[in-house]
Amino acid sequence: MKDDNKKITKRTDDYSKWYLDVIEASDLIDESPVRGCMVIKPYGYAIWENIQKVLDKQFKDLGVQNAYFPLFIPKSFFEREAEHVEGFAKECAVVTHHRLKLDPTTGKLVPDGLLDEPLIVRPTSETIMYDTFSRWISSYRDLPLMINQWANVVRWEMRTRPFLRSMEFLWQEGHTAHESEKEADDMAMKMVKVYKKFVEEYLGISVLSGVKSESEKFAGAKYTYSIETMTQDIKALQSATSHMLAQNFSKAFNVKFLDKDQKRQFVWQTSWGISTRIIGAMIMAHSDDNGLVVPPKIAPIQVVIVPIWKDDKEKKLVLNKINKIYKDLEKVNVSVKNDDRDLRPGARFFEWEKKGVPLRIEIGPKDVENKSVVFSRRDTGEKMIIDEKNITKEVINILDAIQKNLYDRSSKLMEKNTHIVNSWQEFQDVIERGGFVSAHFCGNKKCEDKIQTATKATSRCFSFDEKEEYGKCIYCGADSKKRAVFAKSY
Ligand SMILES: [Zn+2]
Repeated sequence: MKDDNKKITKRTDDYSKWYLDVIEASDLIDESPVRGCMVIKPYGYAIWENIQKVLDKQFKDLGVQNAYFPLFIPKSFFEREAEHVEGFAKECAVVTHHRLKLDPTTGKLVPDGLLDEPLIVRPTSETIMYDTFSRWISSYRDLPLMINQWANVVRWEMRTRPFLRSMEFLWQEGHTAHESEKEADDMAMKMVKVYKKFVEEYLGISVLSGVKSESEKFAGAKYTYSIETMTQDIKALQSATSHMLAQNFSKAFNVKFLDKDQKRQFVWQTSWGISTRIIGAMIMAHSDDNGLVVPPKIAPIQVVIVPIWKDDKEKKLVLNKINKIYKDLEKVNVSVKNDDRDLRPGARFFEWEKKGVPLRIEIGPKDVENKSVVFSRRDTGEKMIIDEKNITKEVINILDAIQKNLYDRSSKLMEKNTHIVNSWQEFQDVIERGGFVSAHFCGNKKCEDKIQTATKATSRCFSFDEKEEYGKCIYCGADSKKRAVFAKSY
């Protein structure tokens, strides 16, 4: 049994413990018998479903279609693109047998039926999809091909943390094929902008976006765009990526088309994804010492009504009143829950607070008499007395205000903790204290390795907002055309 009154560790005492406590208290997931995996409970899954709904519509509006590809990928497929295999080899789940048999001496089940070729449980689907694309595409008339799949993937991570780094996670992966390099370039950029806008508008999190360095880009990509968010312990969290694959995979998987001049050409490709990790970003961006805080636009329950009564007469009176409020809110598409369970009001308040419901409406016999209700905001803890005539209007206003306040807080956090440095000494001092550090960087892989060894920080991206500016690499002194943002990251 879970201890419902367990105290949440304070952020300032132990941030990592706080994160796990918030997840436990808000009932998002349950433990899995397999290390590093998670059972996502209905409340946690409802948040993912809301994320899916919004993005799925946005993808479809761009002409992307959903499809589904197999979970198992032949090992040989990974060997066709050299960088790709190197990038994923160390974290693959490999299926080698196809049945179990009883060992009569030990009485235990053992794997049997060795497969001719091992199968890889997909860590990402470029290989299997592009093998298929090679049969779907033959002419320029088949392009662009834009396919997305909502699926689970497995990466055998050694150190795991719920949502942020789980061995199996849920995501969407979009894969496109185009006639020209320009079209693929544009698509990769379009998708990173879709993610940035979504995370800012719906999840209320401020986003840094830009191009990844050579060592941080996707294995097999020409370049990778990413969006990065900042956690409250001022580390970076890579929250979605969009890759320009150029012709690296189309050459490996023979994805060709006959162009308008009847010439055979390889297609230009992109892939892009966002995963359940974004729920971890949301928890880390907004939650507080009282538990989870969910932004209204993504909250499974936006408003909870908690009626208060002492006897049956009062109960009848308040329940009558809340039925009307409930119906009025449903009419304007507010997701509302009526918590009339026979529990002390304090216990009910506490539960919804831990679960991060943006707005609570309290109503007792006195309120019915005064023709008013009490609003309580989750983000600020502020309480307000609202005239019953204005409930619907005020709910909409306050949900908007909460959404805006969460974004403003996140944006101020990033602004306050982003620093510009111009010397290696300064870089080391500032990065030690945390936050984002903007510094000139040559982009070289070896140089980045050395910076990481010395400071545990990596380059997060060359920001789109950063202008060209000549300087010298903070570490090696080589010429640099742009600053990169460095940070310690999850
Ligand atoms: Zn350098």
